[in-house]
Amino acid sequence: MTSSPVMPLDASKVEIQTTKTPSKPKSNDELVFGKTFTDHMLTVEWTQESGWGTPQIKPYGNLSLDPSSAVFHYGFELFEGLKAYRTPGDKVALFRADKNMERLNKSAARICLPTVDGEEVIKLMGKLIEQDKYLVPEGQGYALYLRPTMIGTTPALGVTAPDKALLFVIASPVGPYYKTGFKAVKLEATDYATRAWPGGCGDKKLGANYAPCVLPQRQAAERGYQQNLWLFGPEKHITEVGTMNAFFVFQDSKTGKKELVTAPLDGTILEGVTRDSILSLARERLDPNEWTISERYFSITEVAEKAACGELVEAFGAGTAAVVSPIKEIGWEGKDINVPLQPGKQSGALTENVAKWIANIQYGKEMHGNWSRPV
Ligand code: PMP
Repeated sequence: MTSSPVMPLDASKVEIQTTKTPSKPKSNDELVFGKTFTDHMLTVEWTQESGWGTPQIKPYGNLSLDPSSAVFHYGFELFEGLKAYRTPGDKVALFRADKNMERLNKSAARICLPTVDGEEVIKLMGKLIEQDKYLVPEGQGYALYLRPTMIGTTPALGVTAPDKALLFVIASPVGPYYKTGFKAVKLEATDYATRAWPGGCGDKKLGANYAPCVLPQRQAAERGYQQNLWLFGPEKHITEVGTMNAFFVFQDSKTGKKELVTAPLDGTILEGVTRDSILSLARERLDPNEWTISERYFSITEVAEKAACGELVEAFGAGTAAVVSPIKEIGWEGKDINVPLQPGKQSGALTENVAKWIANIQYGKEMHGNWSRPV
């Protein structure tokens, strides 16, 4: 008996079925993050026996799954989030999609779902975008948000590695996170709930990491804070902010030297693509005589002490959705730590610069290696 070969994912085999009811593009001010989707979606089925099946681009629509599917019971789900931008010459380009594919594979490996050849998924996302290119919005701050997702679909209740999976990608035209410029946020430093812990899987983009963070966010909101500043351990280390990586700027009052600091990738921090981009650009562009760029542990106590002696300069969250999100206040131990903003503005100076650096690369105004890749 000959066994059938286990097929790798092959973008060239894609089958495309186009919609008979193409939608009208929404005007830019009607776009709400993640509420409307393009006309088509990508799906690829996997089985342990045969490997990856034929990729399908088809009209956006419901999935049909057995109610016993692994995803519904034990959280066999991972996702990614990345954006495609309109660039000069009527082109559309993906920003650092290779990094998202790397992370997708790390997430998949952690929950025993199949890994993929990221290049093939990038090609398939390119074909999906081409199909609905007219729905990619134009203008600074506008983009097409892509949501690659993988779920375990084995129809059985045993807690075991799925032998069937589905990879799908949906796409949502989105507008700028802050429609009228930055709006700095208030955070509640959170030590009564923990987002991630050593030996856990907080560095993976698993759906299971997100649902438990909504209640603490709601509790913080009831007290007037938009987001949680996630602390960890007896040292009260700052890890992340909401669903973004956290950056702080300190300035030594004796030497005048500034430090851009973010938490190290120790397994409790999501390996943000925006985080990585900011660190690279800061290392390339900030004068090392004036700046230190650090990936190190730092605590809310250190932030409170630096704020008290005028050494806290600015702080922001970093992630694909908003790129950067300035912070103006942090509630901690019954008091609010004030985070400085530029006079008359809603952000610090570096926050503003970082937003420009990244936007220029995303919208193809400036080249940076292979970060922006036409589809
Ligand atoms: N941390 C968490 C917990 C996240 O969910 C995300 C992304 N949504 C980020 C950080 C930022 O990652 P990226 O820059 O890749 O969007």
